[in-house]
Amino acid sequence: MHHPENDSEYKGLTVNSGVSSQPTVNPYLTGRPRRRRSFTPAEYVEGILKGDISMLSRAVTLVESTVDEHQAVAQEVIEKCLPHSGKSRRIGITGVPGAGKSTSIDEFGLHVIRQGHKLAVLAIDPSSERTRGSILGDKTRMEKLSQNHDAFIRPSPSAGSLGGVARKTRETIVLCEAAGYDRIFVETVGVGQSETAVHSMVDFFLLIQLAGTGDELQGIKRGIMEMADGIVINKCDGDNVERARLAAAQFRNALHLFPPTPSRWKPEVITYSGYFGYDIDKVWDMIDRYFDYVERTGYFERKRNEQAKYWMTETINEQLKASFYRFPQIKELLEQKEMRILNNEQSSFTAARDVLDFYFTRLRQTSDR
Ligand code: GDP
Repeated sequence: MHHPENDSEYKGLTVNSGVSSQPTVNPYLTGRPRRRRSFTPAEYVEGILKGDISMLSRAVTLVESTVDEHQAVAQEVIEKCLPHSGKSRRIGITGVPGAGKSTSIDEFGLHVIRQGHKLAVLAIDPSSERTRGSILGDKTRMEKLSQNHDAFIRPSPSAGSLGGVARKTRETIVLCEAAGYDRIFVETVGVGQSETAVHSMVDFFLLIQLAGTGDELQGIKRGIMEMADGIVINKCDGDNVERARLAAAQFRNALHLFPPTPSRWKPEVITYSGYFGYDIDKVWDMIDRYFDYVERTGYFERKRNEQAKYWMTETINEQLKASFYRFPQIKELLEQKEMRILNNEQSSFTAARDVLDFYFTRLRQTSDR
């Protein structure tokens, strides 16, 4: 077809034959999209007890959900799984970002799987470390484990209050154990509060350290070192071997100055290389010896009982707080009181008393009705 604009002399825009555009609706899609079916608590429990990974994952999603109906189902599932839980070794693993947690967990995990165990890797990370590309418990960080059928990896429940995130992880432990996972790793970043939460849900607490520059105890709070049942110095390879061994000696000296641990177990310091897989067996030998020791002395049982009591109190505290802050008009009342405090019209203590009085009176009225 002749067109003046297609003339070779023409300097303006040319007309091209177009392509027919795709329909916006997929012609092969007929009917309504299928909604994912929801399961009864009994179906979840049955699936979990059979070791069905997809049922386990779905149940964990319910545990993590903040929707009330999901929580109701989750609590029932947990309750029914409880009698089947507890038969595992729970190990907390911490270290500052870059210490080599994911590299090491990959190797430690393969080591325990080779011994015939099933492993669940969970994480607690209430902060937003995630923006720095270090999503704890992220599958892509544990390449070998993520392809292994005997490993179940679950990243940290999404950011929230530490108490809430920790409770969800603890509940997830129950589900994993009921599903037959007899080794549980709980990963956390060794820089803050989360370690105390992890410590309260594991049997053994492993601290991954590096040979530092200068002060070997840098970056890790003394309190975290005191919680450790074992300290391992990673990256003991290549020309770092001497420095790692020196750091180990310094840690051993530092540990002498610490008060005895409640279990009377003497924390050990071991060098290894997560990347090259050197001396992983030595690390694991220490952990096995610890379990033999605490099972013999009865400390294992005692600590688990203490933890169970602690979690009941924690859950009560957490739920009471949530119920209080969610109660109608509390938010407004708190804002008013804050203004009064700032204007020096009322003290913090009488303001707190007023708000609590309001809450308890209203609560009584609602329950009387
Ligand atoms: P995370 O942030 O604690 O999980 O640390 P990563 O496991 O991601 O490791 C941080 C960096 O240290 C990565 O570049 C790893 O390859 C490296 N790394 C980890 N373990 C070792 C080791 O044993 N030796 C050496 N040389 N490098 C390691």
